[in-house]
Amino acid sequence: PSVKATHCTATTCPYCGVGCGVTLEWEDSESGPRIVSLAGDTRHPANYGRLCVKGSALAETLSPQGRLTHPQVRDAAGVLREVSWDTALDLIATRFSALRETHGAECIAAYLSGQLLTEDYYLANKLFKGFVGTPHLDTNSRLCMASAVVAHKRAFGADAVPCSYEDLESAELVVLVGSNLAWNHPVLFQRLKQARIDNPLLRIVVIDPRVTDSCEIADLYLGVRPGSDARLFNGLLAYMAERGRMDRLYLEAHTQGFDAALKAAKVDDCSLAAIARDCDVDVERLETFYYWFTTQLHVVTLFSQGINQSTSGTDKGNAIINCHLAGGKLGLPGAGPFSITGQPNAMGGREVGGLANQLAAHMDYDTPGARTLVSEFWQAPNLPEGPGHKAVEMFAALGRGEIQALWVMATNPAVSLPDSEAVRSALARCPLVIVSDCVSDSDTLAYADVILPASSWSEKDGTVTNSERRISRQRGLLVPPGEARHDWWQLAEVGKRMGYEQAFSYAGPHAIFREHARLSGYRNATPRAKAGKRMSDELPCVKRLFNISPLAELGRQGYDDLIPIQWPVYRNAQGDLVGTRRLFEDATFNTPNGRARLVPVTPQQPHQQLSDAAPLRLNTGRIRDQWHTMTRTARSARLMNHRAEPYIELHARDAQARKLEDGMLARLLSRDAQGAIRGDYRARVHISSGQRAGEVFIPMHWNDHFASHGRAGALLAGLTDPFSGQPESKHGAVEVIAL
Ligand code: SF4
Repeated sequence: PSVKATHCTATTCPYCGVGCGVTLEWEDSESGPRIVSLAGDTRHPANYGRLCVKGSALAETLSPQGRLTHPQVRDAAGVLREVSWDTALDLIATRFSALRETHGAECIAAYLSGQLLTEDYYLANKLFKGFVGTPHLDTNSRLCMASAVVAHKRAFGADAVPCSYEDLESAELVVLVGSNLAWNHPVLFQRLKQARIDNPLLRIVVIDPRVTDSCEIADLYLGVRPGSDARLFNGLLAYMAERGRMDRLYLEAHTQGFDAALKAAKVDDCSLAAIARDCDVDVERLETFYYWFTTQLHVVTLFSQGINQSTSGTDKGNAIINCHLAGGKLGLPGAGPFSITGQPNAMGGREVGGLANQLAAHMDYDTPGARTLVSEFWQAPNLPEGPGHKAVEMFAALGRGEIQALWVMATNPAVSLPDSEAVRSALARCPLVIVSDCVSDSDTLAYADVILPASSWSEKDGTVTNSERRISRQRGLLVPPGEARHDWWQLAEVGKRMGYEQAFSYAGPHAIFREHARLSGYRNATPRAKAGKRMSDELPCVKRLFNISPLAELGRQGYDDLIPIQWPVYRNAQGDLVGTRRLFEDATFNTPNGRARLVPVTPQQPHQQLSDAAPLRLNTGRIRDQWHTMTRTARSARLMNHRAEPYIELHARDAQARKLEDGMLARLLSRDAQGAIRGDYRARVHISSGQRAGEVFIPMHWNDHFASHGRAGALLAGLTDPFSGQPESKHGAVEVIAL
């Protein structure tokens, strides 16, 4: 067909936290704009033109089929009926106001998503916390990186990722721990692979219970026992201390807590033999890793869900950071602990305060002065006094009937949360469930009393922040189908209908972004934010690293033209906007005394207990070509070709013991504390030499539309990290039997 491409738009891939730039070529047609080609954006610093298979298949997932196109409300007979936007929005505003009046604001909750754009997120946080007055706003980011957030705060005094992607290319040693980069952040893997070709001296260590595709570029592989990461890194700290391989000057000048952290590490036997035994790795490989880590300065330790999705994920993150601080391997090119997150708006939700324990703009409820500051800025009448329920707690409160209204935006908790049968029961009992989504096959829609059709990628405008703190634009050009509307608009309309006309009147996402940027600098006591401004001592000032206030000066055109930039953002002497490639280069941290903290860590076993009825350790994770609960990626036949159905990856010994063969159908069963079956997962057995004996791996994506009994979340207990609230999704306990 003849193609007359007349326009080119730069945007950002909506799938993962790498945040690759995408260039869309499109033309006007009679039915509206039409995308004719898609490629990696050669100018975007996240990917420089690269795309992975999911990114390159984006256009294949844009069909109007399967989209929600009209608001719907469930009638008295339980039937969903199409209604006007006015009817749906009035109903929500009226029910929220009435519930607040009769039961208090805390009976209202919101569950959001790292798929939302920052502008949507900001407005949801402002509406629910500042005006509805409920603290119960959380997000599926809780399932992804909440442990890393707390680890950063404990160590640095701020949730701040020190590194940039380019540090992977200037490192002498890159350690991948709890990260299958090759499948989950493929463009970063491509960059690392190329870096290894360009620099033969670069070494790569992979630490993972499974042999994954990431091992393709590994110089050393440690197939650790699941859950032993804290022991491994505590051992490394002790090894550094014993051999005098810490950076004493750095420790003394810029940190605190080393002695306590070392003492905690040394509670266990720190001989190499004992650590190798506890982690179940070869002692020579262990020593090689320790030797490489301690003899190189430019070390990046990249960690992901394998660390975070644990009942001790926060401690594991701090055990890693401790080693970097002890060696002064931070704030330098090619050095630092690097949390790589899962979702496209990896950090945007954290920036606006979109977690239940956060308030706004990287301030928490317990940050002195923060509540007054945010109240004043928003002119918010109802800001809660303290934090709300984190994701798993929120759905437990829903099940107990304490939450009477829940608004779910752009996520599918009926599949993705642990103990998903209990989550479904909780949703079924909630009197008012509102679901905003763009697709019609999200399982959570079955529980909705109000359905709001949302615009989707390439239809909506806004910003996202990737894993290296880089803010990029997503740009809309397609027309949303039917009556689908933007998420920010839906939230603003409810705010206005609840009587907050002034606070929720925005000309568009650019106006929301400007307000968000202003708040980041509002009474921000960091030296750069304060420069040139006089602040009254009587009013609260809060020191925070997150500051993008110069972007508040952007007009509509400036916002439209925004090029990717890493926060903190400031203006240099020439008046140019400048981002920050690397944090803590001056070794000054965001703690009250400016010193980083080493945190004592006591290694813990997973809390989901193995037993005779459930003797196998269950590991869940992503696969290369799918995303979340498949509501979008399953639309591409090409992506479905990679793995067409769920599977059970098993070691040959475990298969043999159960008379299972490769390709046979089998069941995975997990049990609750009373021994009753909690989850029942059915799929084909895949015998793998990369799987440790005694352990099972299953993909986490399948929802009920694509496979009955394919839901990983049904097998997992809702046990969480006490600091971060992140569920233990990497450490289930199951038995496998032939079907
Ligand atoms: Fe999209 Fe992530 Fe692939 Fe980049 S690596 S193209 S952001 S899915």
